[in-house]
Amino acid sequence: IKRIAVLTSGGDSPGMNAAIRSVVRTCAYHDLECIGVYRGYEGLIEGDFKPMDARSVKGIINKGGTILKSARSKEFRTVEGRQKAYKKLVEAGIDGLVVIGGDGSFTGAMILNDEFDFPVMGIPGTIDNDIVGTTHTLGFDTALNTVVDAIDKIRDTASSHNRLFFIEVMGRDVGHIALNAGIAGGAEEILIPEEDLGLDRLVESLRRSRKSGKTSSIVIVAEGDKIGKNIFELKDFVDDNMEGYDVRVSVLGHMQRGGSPSCFDRVLASRMGVKAVESLLEGKSNYMVGLQNTKMELTPFDNAIKGKTKINLELLRVSDIMST
Ligand code: ATP
Repeated sequence: IKRIAVLTSGGDSPGMNAAIRSVVRTCAYHDLECIGVYRGYEGLIEGDFKPMDARSVKGIINKGGTILKSARSKEFRTVEGRQKAYKKLVEAGIDGLVVIGGDGSFTGAMILNDEFDFPVMGIPGTIDNDIVGTTHTLGFDTALNTVVDAIDKIRDTASSHNRLFFIEVMGRDVGHIALNAGIAGGAEEILIPEEDLGLDRLVESLRRSRKSGKTSSIVIVAEGDKIGKNIFELKDFVDDNMEGYDVRVSVLGHMQRGGSPSCFDRVLASRMGVKAVESLLEGKSNYMVGLQNTKMELTPFDNAIKGKTKINLELLRVSDIMST
């Protein structure tokens, strides 16, 4: 292998720049050329490439987003699209590809590998932490810190006005952000896609805490919570069924994806970049790099994509006990 390309695809996450920097510098360390691909698979199909040397990635380890830009590409879902992409890779003399993205991006990489036997390696970049084969995806830790910071700020106003706040956080299919940030932010209740708490229990829990002397409360709601009501319907329900609370809603939205990556994510990104490039050099392909028991390990794309991450039941119990 002499020339490796790197791209970012799907939703962006904090730490992607740190991962790009790591891939570029690991290439330089091993005397490989590195090519940056702009706008994910879209740019791969169009040949939107730029050679990157060690100095070209200075000053980005602390930046959120991705300097290579990200995109979703419909064309790459077609054989014709992938054929074009393969042709551009070959024309540019590229013999390995590092894809930084989520499970959709890995599916694309896996299909490219199946069809053209092209060496690919994945780095899990998503704030949702929903990929099997790594205890932490890139950006998860930063997103948690962002959410906890927001909860702390909302708590200040909640307690000043005796308010009950419903705070919506990202997580359509998984509740990792909600559960972890909820515990760290001292939430009263946490509603996640994996578990149906039930409306009655929610109201009962809020009544109980009111009786015990609490004057304000915070409930964290993952986007895809199992109760199946959106956050405004939840507010209306509690408004209609509880007295004495001024109920408010705050939807955190895309701010959760932004910001400077945490120390943890910067270190993780640096480790993942090294592992991805060195695994390609060892002749490996079709794997995702991940953190397992403090070590960098490889997981076949197939397992990473098909698996579903499980919620930590111990955390659920801790959350229950904390809201006593
Ligand atoms: P996020 O965690 O933000 O959802 P993701 O990587 O899962 O990130 P997707 O939009 O699902 O984001 O996928 C990114 C891109 O990967 C798609 O726009 C498409 O180009 C490619 N891709 C996804 N699924 C496939 C597929 N089945 N075949 C070919 N390409 C795919």
